[in-house]
Amino acid sequence: MSQKSELVTLTAEQMSAKLRSGEISARELTQAELDVIGAAEPSIQAFLARSSEEALAQADAVDKRRAKGEELPDLAGVPVAVKDMIVTKGIETTAASKILKGWIPPYDATVVARMKRVGMPILGKTNLDEFAQGSSTENSAFHPTFNPWDTTRVPGGSGGGSASAVASFESPLALGTDTGGSIRQPAAFTGTVGVKPTYGHVSRYGAIAMASSLDQVGPCARTVTDAAMLYDVIAGYDDHDSTSLPGKLPSMAAAAVKGARRDLKGLRIGIVKEATGDGFEPEVNASFNEGVELLEGMGAEVKEMSFPNFLHGIRVYYVIMPAEVSSNLARYDGMRYGLRVMPPAGVPQTAANMMACTREAGFGPEVKRRIILGTYALSAGKYDEWYGKAQRVRTVMIQDFAKAFRDIDVLVCPTAPTSAFKLGEIQDPATMYRNDIATIPANLAGLPALSIPSGLDGSGMPTGFQIMAAQRHDDTAFTVASALESAFTEKWGAPIWTKMKTPWLDSMPEE
Ligand code: GLN
Repeated sequence: MSQKSELVTLTAEQMSAKLRSGEISARELTQAELDVIGAAEPSIQAFLARSSEEALAQADAVDKRRAKGEELPDLAGVPVAVKDMIVTKGIETTAASKILKGWIPPYDATVVARMKRVGMPILGKTNLDEFAQGSSTENSAFHPTFNPWDTTRVPGGSGGGSASAVASFESPLALGTDTGGSIRQPAAFTGTVGVKPTYGHVSRYGAIAMASSLDQVGPCARTVTDAAMLYDVIAGYDDHDSTSLPGKLPSMAAAAVKGARRDLKGLRIGIVKEATGDGFEPEVNASFNEGVELLEGMGAEVKEMSFPNFLHGIRVYYVIMPAEVSSNLARYDGMRYGLRVMPPAGVPQTAANMMACTREAGFGPEVKRRIILGTYALSAGKYDEWYGKAQRVRTVMIQDFAKAFRDIDVLVCPTAPTSAFKLGEIQDPATMYRNDIATIPANLAGLPALSIPSGLDGSGMPTGFQIMAAQRHDDTAFTVASALESAFTEKWGAPIWTKMKTPWLDSMPEE
């Protein structure tokens, strides 16, 4: 392995230590990641845009400050990739849609501004399903992304670009957005860690809206501690987001460190009974059960709990989410920014015709399907039957969770019913939607939830273990995740990524 490959396979925590001690510079590290991106992209295609110049300039600025003896935050100089659902000043942001092709945002999302303030070089924008709608990253208007464990398979979605970038060592860290599972399901499919924070813990300002009552930005990483460190940078009150929760948050990195001690005595864990048996692949269940045993071995009290409404989440989601999508995406009208397509000659050149032509050309089929579904669910006469009823079931689900969290600290289940499937394998939307059956409930209830790798199945593909906590108890989820990650790693003898073949790293020249 070349020196460069050794550098990029470090965790963000280790990179941070080497930067601090002066063993490496931020420029060296950033350049190494850009070289890996160059070597990996032909087979992975995780990025839609690269911002190499900006990244190196940010790295130089950090090196200069450090040379002056300035005390810098932990992640200063550690590079990051950003899902193209999050706006970046001066760097094209498309949501993987033709309707935003060429749009250069005039401002940074709050999460991006916070990463820049810390001194994290931004490597580029990662691929996704158009407007974060999908579970495979095959719905991008530009190109699919491939799973580094097996490039004939999908990386999951919608945040497949961020997950693949992290899994393939193109970046130690990335940002995703999670509306129904788009951070956690790709994490499960790529053997990485993905976190959806409590609704309101991370600002949505500058995160392109999909379904506003469900959307949260969160970290993608290779370890729980790395994810926690990035969480600590991006989270916290923001007066640009009216749903931002006030109050100081505990350090998630500290919560992860606490977990690494592997003492879970007194901790009460509930298994979601409905999300473990039928409909979940036997090998997914098997690795999940191993995780449960490890948790018990660390002193946790584990019991099975029934949530009869858990699996209804997906039905509720596919009413509420499209309703919000149909309203949020109405802003892409060809008037103010993005694509504009004029009606063909002979057709009246009216604003309404222009909007119709723009949307016809600019939106892909899945986005159109959801706008139509949502418009129907909100239409006069249908509103109460669909949207009103879905909101009532959502309330019942929130109450079920609140009641359960009086007796337990965290809830666990597999992250997704299967491991990564082949590109093109799932054609019908309803089967695709089922991928998020276990992740959606946390979005509906605003709960923090994260996914960590639980092993490899018979085809050598990673499986995911999901941990959910009560609202605002993200730190508890991090502690349990870190303990379980440590126990799994000991059992495997090495971190899961060491089992992945990385031809793009092996063929990299030394200098
Ligand atoms: N896969 C889910 C969907 O298609 C979730 C998307 C997301 O979390 N952004 O809606």
